[in-house]
Order: sequence, then structure tokens, then C-alpha cells
Amino acid sequence: MKIAVLPGDGIGPEIVAEALKVLDQFRSEGASIETEAGDIGGIAVDRHGDPLPSSTLAFCRKADAILFGSIGGPKYDTLPRELRPERGLLRLRKELDLFANLRPAQVFPELADASSLKPEIVSGLDIMIVRELTGDIYFGEPRGISRNAAGERVGTNTMVYSESEIRRVVHWGFQAARERRKSLCSVDKMNVLETTQLWRDVVNEIAPDYPDVTLTHMLVDNAAMQLVRNPRQFDVIVTGNMFGDILSDEASMLTGSIGMLPSASLNATGQGLYEPIHGSAPDIAGRGIANPLAQILSVSMMFRYSFKRADLADRVDVAVRRVLQQGFRTADIARKGETAAGTAAMGDAVVAALRAQ
Ligand code: NAD
Repeated sequence: MKIAVLPGDGIGPEIVAEALKVLDQFRSEGASIETEAGDIGGIAVDRHGDPLPSSTLAFCRKADAILFGSIGGPKYDTLPRELRPERGLLRLRKELDLFANLRPAQVFPELADASSLKPEIVSGLDIMIVRELTGDIYFGEPRGISRNAAGERVGTNTMVYSESEIRRVVHWGFQAARERRKSLCSVDKMNVLETTQLWRDVVNEIAPDYPDVTLTHMLVDNAAMQLVRNPRQFDVIVTGNMFGDILSDEASMLTGSIGMLPSASLNATGQGLYEPIHGSAPDIAGRGIANPLAQILSVSMMFRYSFKRADLADRVDVAVRRVLQQGFRTADIARKGETAAGTAAMGDAVVAALRAQ
């Protein structure tokens, strides 16, 4: 298992250090894991003048999986656009063609009261959003701000999907559903957008390949509403880049704990980039209080999706549940009056739970 490790900026290095403890534990049990670390984001701008140095890209290409921390910070917000840390991540996703973004939103029973929704609405919630990541209105041409004949400024972006782009991510959606509760909801806006009419047509063409999966369609406005009305109706949601961007943030907030949620971005070969959904949290960086569990759960997703080692993934998931049951809480998930564990103490608790299995 060859893993490129890119800690990045802010709390990234602090939480990646805890994920590496988990890898060390499996290594000590005999798993063959190789890691190589590199720079990306702001730190890469500081050291190499490029948010994605060619040396980093080269070893990421050779790796089976990439363990990514987080990037960005106020220091870099005034840089020219091509030097911004986010550019490094966007380019890496594009270079490796990581088109399928898998984002689970799961409510851990121990944290059900952290949600802004009532516990009876969210308890037991376990959704997987599969979002297309390399197409849609974020990348479509033409784009830009120009002037029309009257001299008024006009902004343009283009929503565009080819059927092959739709097909490959929808297959991921069906496959994820097959491994879960066998229910897939495809989200579009076919009543007004031709691009998403094509999306719906392609989904319907693929559906006969997965007779064991129940397929439904939902318009995106209704999906946004249903996610707060009755989120447990969903198992897997598959959707395009822009709708997925918005819905996955909405779904993650149902769980009430941004520091708990991992994500995977995969290409056709199963190579993947695994990262927490949160950013570099500059407000708490360097204080040793960040929650490392989203990063550790990213390791679980890496074992499951890139290495097909569900056994190791399950062990990580069980260990995380165990430390929550034992009452370990970092500051972001602690209730008023509860003592909070630091980043390293939380990582150590997970490793101890793994050893005890
Ligand atoms: P953020 O996710 O970094 O932080 C939002 C809030 O959540 C903050 O109060 C932060 O302290 C808290 N938080 C986040 N992760 C936490 C954790 N593991 N433990 C405890 N608390 C946690 O979002 P932001 O403040 O909007 O962005 C900060 C920087 O991160 C920006 O430069 C942004 O561009 C970047 N960013 C990077 C990524 C990425 O690396 N993929 C994603 C989103 C934002």
C-alpha cells in the first residue's frame, strides 16, 4: 500500500500526524504500508513558489492513495489566483482525474445531540453523497465577466456534461448503494436544465445494470428540503458537481460535527485522495486542540475504497466509535462542562482502541 502523505497547512499537519499513528499501528501488525510525504498548498508556495510542485505531483501519480490534510490560510488569501493554495488541490484532482467524490454524513449515536436538528430526526442518519467533481458549471466554457453591447458587465458560466462523464460517476453511485442499503437517489433539475435532463436519461439507461438497487429521482430543490425534513430516507445520493457541493455541505451539518467527516475522491482505477471535509481551521491551528477523527476516518475510507481492505477499515471505524463511547471528546464535540481531549490524546486513544481489538 503506497500512500502519498500531504499534510498541507493550518491544522493539516497536526491531524495528519494522528492518522499516521494509525498507519504505524497497522504496520506494526504486519501490514505492508509505505508512505512518502510532500508539500502542497500554502506551505508549497512558501517553499517552492507553486501550490502543487511538480515533485509532489510526480510521487502522487505513483501512489495508490493520497492522504491529504487541509490547505489554505489568511496569509495566502491575497496571492494571485494561480498561486492560491486551493489551486494546488484543484489541479491535483484534475491531473489525477479524481471525478467521483464520496462524502458520508453519519451521525454517531454518542453525538446525536450535536446536530442543529432534533435528535429524533437525525439519530441513526447514515447518508453517502456521491458528487461528480471534475465537470459541470465549475469547469464549463465559455466563462468569465465581459461587457455587452450596452456596456453593462455580464457574468457567464456554462453548465456542461457529456454522457461519459455522467455515466462513470453514476456507476460509482450504484456501486456504493450496492455495498450499503441498496437505495440510490439521483438528484437533478431536469424541469429547467437540459444538461440535467441528459443526466436523468443516462441514469435511467444505467439502472438495468443494477437490478438489486432501488433507484429514485429527485429535483435538487426538493432534495435540499428533504435533507432537513426527513434525512433518514436517503441511503446514497448521486449528483453533479454544483448540486453535490451544496447538498454535501448541508448533509454534513446535519451531523453537527465538521471535525468528524471524511471524504474520498476517486478515479477510474480506484486511486483516491482521502481528506477531511473541513478546511485548515486557521483559528485553532498550532494549539493542539483540533479534532483528528475526520482525518483518521479518511484512513478508513482509504482502506475500504483504494485498498479493498474492508477488514482494516472496519477496525478503524470500530475504534473511533469506541473512543466516543469511552467519552473522549475534542473541544469541537464536547458538551458544556465536559473536559476536552487534545489532538494527540484523541489520536492515542484511537490507537489504544485498535490495540485492544
Ligand atoms: P474550516 O473548515 O477550516 O473551519 C470552519 C470552522 O470549523 C472553524 O471554526 C474551525 O476551527 C472549525 N474546524 C474545522 N475543522 C476542525 C477540526 N478538525 N477540529 C475542530 N474544529 C474544526 O473553514 P474556513 O474557516 O472557512 O476555512 C479556513 C481555510 O481552509 C481557508 O483558507 C479555506 O480556503 C480553506 N479550506 C480548505 C479546504 C481543503 O483543504 N480541502 C476545504 C475548505 C476550506
